[in-house]
Amino acid sequence: DVSRGDYMTVIGPVGDERKLPFDKIATLSGVKEATMVETPYKLISREYARFYGEPGAHKTVHIGHVHMGNGEPVIIAGPCAVESAEQVAETVESVIRAGARVLRGGAYKPRTSPYAFQGMKTEGLKLLAEARERHHIPVCTEVVDPRDVETVAEHCDILQIGTRNMQNFPLLTEVGKSGRAVLLKRGMASTIEDLLMAAEYVLSEGNERLLLCERGVRTFEPSTRYTLDLSAVAVIRRYSHLPILVDPSHATGHWWAVPAMAKAALAAGADGLVIEVHPRPKEAYCDGAQSLKCETFETLMAELKPIAAAVGRKL
Ligand code: PEP
Ligand code: MN
Repeated sequence: DVSRGDYMTVIGPVGDERKLPFDKIATLSGVKEATMVETPYKLISREYARFYGEPGAHKTVHIGHVHMGNGEPVIIAGPCAVESAEQVAETVESVIRAGARVLRGGAYKPRTSPYAFQGMKTEGLKLLAEARERHHIPVCTEVVDPRDVETVAEHCDILQIGTRNMQNFPLLTEVGKSGRAVLLKRGMASTIEDLLMAAEYVLSEGNERLLLCERGVRTFEPSTRYTLDLSAVAVIRRYSHLPILVDPSHATGHWWAVPAMAKAALAAGADGLVIEVHPRPKEAYCDGAQSLKCETFETLMAELKPIAAAVGRKL
């Protein structure tokens, strides 16, 4: 499509950008600028969902008997790290009683320091798989290395990609191929568009069971660990059909700030929450300061119900 004006000619090519040397066009003499008119993401966009006839242009992600993105927020809860059989048993029983639908727990921990606890690895995966069998609850756990994807996928229902790996493209490709549901956390210094493009990597491998998660971004504010960007919920709901969850635990870094941000996230329309819970936070190997005690989590779950109802959602 070509439009000729007195001073400028606009050429509008349509099609697969891989077949068009877009970057080179911008460097040609006589070219003022080359800009992309359409959004660079495709498979994750609402238009795509609408095209495939999903009502409301939002898709539901099914994980066993748990459905994400259908208007009933799903709470994922559990410890930061799997530490022992007792710790997993205590936590899973208590979070299920309180109403959590998915158990979380890290077996591979991507720590800032190489000297910090790195997780129980395969032993931790086994404990998670046991809890999943015993309680019929889906399990979410992080995978940090493309070589571990197969093993981790055998032991869990949702593969978590952490903030530090949001743009680890070989890892995204591998979890995309695994066919397991994926929880993709926003990079702590990534834009929402970066997150959506990372999501596109997973979907482009044919894996449509993807959940996005806002977990706070780095700002100049030191009183919380990160800054929860709740507007990500509104932005992602506008542009994508993918469910968007919020993690108030990592976003704030303080157990006392978690309930307020969890409520705000549900009020904003989040499709679910990821909350760290530990039977004895003071003894936690990691992230104790942001972990809720089992009783505090139970109280929070009760408080979340009327908030979900107020925005037309059932918890
Ligand atoms: C976690 O969920 O335990 C975790 C490490 O989160 P994040 O990648 O958001 O820091
Ligand atoms: Mn953690």
